[in-house]
Amino acid sequence: LKFSEEQAKRKMLYNQIQEAKGNIRVFCRCRPLRKEEISAGYPMVTDFDAAKDGELGVFAGGSTKKIFKFDRVYTPKDDQVDVFADASPMVVSVLDGYNVCIFAYGQTGTGKTFTMEGSEQNRGVNYRTLKQLFKIAEERKDTFTYSISVSVLEVYNEQIRDLLATSPTSKKLEIRQASEGVHHVPGIVEAKVENIKEVWSVLQAGSNARAVGSNNVNEHSSRSHCMLCIMVSTKNLMNGECTKSKLWLVDLAGSERLAKTEVQGDRLKEAQNINRSLSALGDVISALASKSCHIPFRNSKLTHLLQDSLGGDSKTLMFVQISPSEQDLGETLSSLNFATRVRGVELGPARKQI
Ligand code: ADP
Repeated sequence: LKFSEEQAKRKMLYNQIQEAKGNIRVFCRCRPLRKEEISAGYPMVTDFDAAKDGELGVFAGGSTKKIFKFDRVYTPKDDQVDVFADASPMVVSVLDGYNVCIFAYGQTGTGKTFTMEGSEQNRGVNYRTLKQLFKIAEERKDTFTYSISVSVLEVYNEQIRDLLATSPTSKKLEIRQASEGVHHVPGIVEAKVENIKEVWSVLQAGSNARAVGSNNVNEHSSRSHCMLCIMVSTKNLMNGECTKSKLWLVDLAGSERLAKTEVQGDRLKEAQNINRSLSALGDVISALASKSCHIPFRNSKLTHLLQDSLGGDSKTLMFVQISPSEQDLGETLSSLNFATRVRGVELGPARKQI
């Protein structure tokens, strides 16, 4: 088979699978208990007996066990390789012209950054994605030329910051829609990357920039969304056709609600902005899944930025990250309910249009 025919076949297969299952996948990942939690004797509330079937059990007080169903459930023993193996087909589809969005949602400390960024010894989805894209681009080089560039942004208090900008700018970054309908942020750095070595240094630069100007890096990271955008331009060498696609990889701000006593001043503003953008994300996905005629993308910078990669024939993958510990039970249930809404809404009753 000629390569273009093969690609057309693959696209058709994707579309069939998508039609059957919808284009939203939810993977649930649970971190291991921490040493302190073990020594403090906190019991685990999670049950992975049916994890292989995508079921997670949660002991929600007394002998009640709630069952949640997802497309995948990872136990604390599953590693970065296991997780990426499942995410990889979706990631690769960006080379077939699809827009894709992958995001990690959950309470601070549940492993969002571990899943997306990982560490040098234990690399996460971001790095593995780019590595995979280069590998496949190399395999297809007789038929396609790919050009890959990367932007790294942060959204904090509804303001966009370019983490690859070399000099600080006071200019407010705004989202614009180009004539062909594509959303972009004029003026941001789009770093062209040719190989995986270059990628690592770009990702490091983004990570380092995140720390600048904040007294407590971890706290700041937990209150902002970190967004990596991979832009792929494809030229089909057989017919000269050019296409563009976009893959967003997002480490969201922590979803935890604050104690009432804590909520004042700057913290109140931060909390409101996080809350607003995370609910906007939930609303957008719900509206998409229920095929509402108005999708409220513009209710937050986060959803506005992601607009091209949510909906239409784009693919969405959500990692809902949870803690196994009893002391986090309230937040765990709240994250699992959010994820269930994201995953299950298309099966639910018609929703009111927003
Ligand atoms: P978040 O980004 O959600 O705030 P982190 O990714 O910073 O959480 O994770 C908190 C801590 O838990 C880190 O020390 C991280 O290395 C560890 N951790 C999270 N998930 C896992 C996992 N699946 N396996 C091993 N360690 C993990």
